[in-house]
Amino acid sequence: MPDIAPGGIYTDVQSRLVNSASNPNNCFCGWYVYYSSVCTHVYQEVPVHCGARTTKSGKSGFCVTPTPKNNVGAVKINVKCRTC
Ligand SMILES: [Zn+2]
Ligand SMILES: [Zn+2]
Repeated sequence: MPDIAPGGIYTDVQSRLVNSASNPNNCFCGWYVYYSSVCTHVYQEVPVHCGARTTKSGKSGFCVTPTPKNNVGAVKINVKCRTC
């Protein structure tokens, strides 16, 4: 199983996007959860918005509530989590 550095998360997540089966717009909104390969805890939860929805303040928002959480199992982060 390959490890990646924390700086690679935002690039990597683009290849992990999962379309929500319950959303007709092929929405991939959600939290993408990365784990540390060192301590095995959650390293970071990355919010990804598909862009179809905007919040009142004009930022991108999640389409679905509750927002799905997708565990990223294909890669791990090669450092300890922040609380270790
Ligand atoms: Zn969406
Ligand atoms: Zn940890």
